Amino acid sequence: MRLLEDNLGKKSMVEPATLTDFIRYIESNFPVDRYLLIFWDHGGGSVTGYGYDEHFKGDHMTLDGIERALFNAGTQLDFIGFDACLMATLETDFVVEPYADYLIASEELEPGIGWYYTGWPNELSQNSSVETIELGKKLIDDYVLEVKRQTPNDWNIENLAITNLNYLMSYKIIDIYGNSYWTPAITNYRKEDLMIQDIRPRIFNNKFTNKKAEPKDLFLSYKEETVLVKEEKDKLWYPSFADFQDTHPALKNEAQFLFNIDEINYFLVKQQDLDTVKGWTYVTTGRFRTELKYWRSFAGTVGWQLNRWYQNHNFCSRCGHQMKSSENERMLYCEGCGFQTYPVISPCVIVAVHEGDRLLLTKYAGRSYKNFALIAGFVEIGESLEETVQREVMEEVGLKVKNIQFYKSQPWPFTDTILAGFFAELDGDDKIIIDEDELSMGVWMDRDKVPPDESRISLTGEMMEAFRTKRMP
Ligand SMILES: [Zn+2]
Repeated sequence: MRLLEDNLGKKSMVEPATLTDFIRYIESNFPVDRYLLIFWDHGGGSVTGYGYDEHFKGDHMTLDGIERALFNAGTQLDFIGFDACLMATLETDFVVEPYADYLIASEELEPGIGWYYTGWPNELSQNSSVETIELGKKLIDDYVLEVKRQTPNDWNIENLAITNLNYLMSYKIIDIYGNSYWTPAITNYRKEDLMIQDIRPRIFNNKFTNKKAEPKDLFLSYKEETVLVKEEKDKLWYPSFADFQDTHPALKNEAQFLFNIDEINYFLVKQQDLDTVKGWTYVTTGRFRTELKYWRSFAGTVGWQLNRWYQNHNFCSRCGHQMKSSENERMLYCEGCGFQTYPVISPCVIVAVHEGDRLLLTKYAGRSYKNFALIAGFVEIGESLEETVQREVMEEVGLKVKNIQFYKSQPWPFTDTILAGFFAELDGDDKIIIDEDELSMGVWMDRDKVPPDESRISLTGEMMEAFRTKRMP
């Protein structure tokens, strides 16, 4: 042990600001690749939250306070542990989910000896790249063994669990009085229902306001096919203006408000050289397709679309004057001739052509995307969506379809499109003649051979999965 700082005086251990200061202090003085945060000693579950600081009137840090502290600290953690009673609840899961990959906590009371801090930290020191899940299992095994060994007569409820927060989902219900609350719906949640825009329980709000940025607000900075994030493994962790306060104090003055997700505001900045600041880097927007936390990838991809729109409309396409941003709506206008333009969204159809237990699958020609796909195409001038379905199927694979049924739609900001998904039955001859400019392959696939959808973000994947599991209309 060594003394890191002079005495800071008596600080309340249940004050969120103390926790925020502590996390920030550690991060700036001991920068490392992975951080673990353990709350030690008393826990009161969802009712009182963490701690019992007898020097400060026996006060607690409520779950709300914990969330505020973690949000303000802005550090991504491998796991958050509660070496405290009763903290493994759904409510704790929801609170810590944005900030950590795993929660380690107990549903039960913990004996006074608490966790065993010899075994698993040794393991970590010997192999600092050990998987968090493996480290967690070791921690739990150590705990169970030590509790049994040291308190053989007092305790028979050794209980400690590690929860993968990346797979946590729930539903936020708002009742007729406007009260909102969580439903413990993990068991009801059907993964196959989720596409990239399905970010519940979070709420995406695209209402435009002429908001000015504040230090706590997040911003998006794009450089071609890349986006600025914190330089940490596999995370889409976006910067806040506070992170750039010292190096770029003027950044927030010219930022453009985009949207908010729950209470988090997202802004767009034009600067593209922000990776000169230590700890920040531009990573490929391909990450939007693999991030497990959809609210992060959805924010990034919608921001990316808006970034393209702003960039592509610096000048009036009618008279060449500089365009200006409206203060009232998401619109750019020309002071020279009055021309107005709104974000570009092109309609597309996706078609699952089926015949009995067979589904028509395709592969695109000349694209980096190599997985199976469905028929897809842009709506042309003067067409209804159903006519687009018929035309695209005929053009791409030379087949006729009937009984065209709308399934679901999806915003697809990657390509500035809105996708409308249809199921359609084969009408007549099943002989496939592919358009080789568009496709490299077109096949009839038996239902049990249709590949399961792994990525889960797209309507195409969702529709293939719906056919495979017989959930289609
Ligand atoms: Zn003009």
